[in-house]
Amino acid sequence: MASEKRVDLDGNPIKPITICMIGAGGFIGSHLCEKLMAETPHKVLALDVYNDKIKHLLEPDSLPWADRIQFHRLNIKNDSRLESLIRMADLTINLAAICTPADYNTRPLDTIYSNFIDAIPVVKYCSGNNKRLIHFSTCEVYGKTIGSFLPKDSPLRQDPAYYVLSENSSPCIFGPIEKQRWSYACAKQLIERLIYAEGAENGMDFTIVRPFNWIGPRMDFIPGIDGPSEGVPRVLACFSNNLLRHEPLKLVDGGQSQRTFIYIKDAIEAVLLMIENPARANGQIFNVGNPNNEVTVKQLAEMMTEVYAKVSGEPSLEKPTIDISSEEFYGVGYDDSDKRIPDMTIINKQLGWNPKTSLWDLLESTLTYQHRTYAEAIKQATAKPAAT
Ligand code: NAD
Ligand code: UDP
Repeated sequence: MASEKRVDLDGNPIKPITICMIGAGGFIGSHLCEKLMAETPHKVLALDVYNDKIKHLLEPDSLPWADRIQFHRLNIKNDSRLESLIRMADLTINLAAICTPADYNTRPLDTIYSNFIDAIPVVKYCSGNNKRLIHFSTCEVYGKTIGSFLPKDSPLRQDPAYYVLSENSSPCIFGPIEKQRWSYACAKQLIERLIYAEGAENGMDFTIVRPFNWIGPRMDFIPGIDGPSEGVPRVLACFSNNLLRHEPLKLVDGGQSQRTFIYIKDAIEAVLLMIENPARANGQIFNVGNPNNEVTVKQLAEMMTEVYAKVSGEPSLEKPTIDISSEEFYGVGYDDSDKRIPDMTIINKQLGWNPKTSLWDLLESTLTYQHRTYAEAIKQATAKPAAT
């Protein structure tokens, strides 16, 4: 329940605010709405083209927070209500984006429009109306690590200076234009630069968030169940789909890329601190990730296989993974980030925040959710029609 006596990190009482959340119906938005409803007195104007993932917060009308959340079905590309909704709020949070890697090289125009062009009016309306903006960017703006260009056997590859990604000092290293994978990273980088410039030249209050592989329940979709059969979601949902269907997990180019995964609930704590501590968060770019949870994609596949067997009670396949080339999996123009370890110095100093959940624990709760939510639907979808 929302308490009246909540204080910020400096001991000042937190005043209830109204938040215009764009992309509220997505994975991160749904968890943020849940947190804001359950633990704060803030109001949310939730904007999205879909609301399936927040339906449980909107219905029935008798929910204790019913008067604090209002859903507006709109597409920010072409809806004149956007500016008035931003004006009605104290803070805008922009989560709207095309953000699945399978789209970056196959739908580069949609990717660039969604992540850059469509975000421009949001920035303009915030700046023009003196409203604070929290904008969701991505760790992908760092691109590849400097270390990836060193010879494979170079001892410098072990030196954190060559791979740890720091907001204020790391360069952004993308591949060539024909590698359209980088359309997303480049669009996100340019919108970051626009926001930063609005802050510098026009005094706009902003915070930029760079998520490092946030994962958990409600991420993306399971192809053929609550998304298109041919769709390719992000790795958590791809591997969950394989496990649910008793298929081997596909390792793109051998699964040698490294990632750090963070539990969505840990990450949402960081976002709430940003919302409620504007004096500490304004003007900042924050990495939000868990540097302790680093694995190769191959190791992730092995761990998910083990955890899924535990939570489902079903034995794993004898050969749980297979290799696949990136061209076959994603098509021409795919490329990859080699390694992503966030420097946590700035968020730790400004907000005192640290992630808590281990990879094993977060996979256990997430795969329990996936099994409970989808196993029966998959069984029915794949059941052979009865012989006539
Ligand atoms: P998501 O796809 O689940 O959510 C995005 C939401 O935005 C969707 O509900 C979608 O319907 C909505 N949306 C997109 N275009 C819209 C439009 N034109 N008008 C209205 N609504 C629109 O993705 P997510 O994982 O929740 O990511 C949210 C943000 O965080 C994105 O900006 C993404 O780039 C960024 N991000 C997320 C991660 C992660 O680990 N999940 C990593 C890096 C960056
Ligand atoms: N990947 C994989 N098999 C899959 C899906 C993804 O090996 O079925 C790899 C992908 O090539 C990348 C990593 O997993 O190296 C993470 O992919 P994700 O879609 O989560 O996005 P990214 O972290 O690259 O933004």
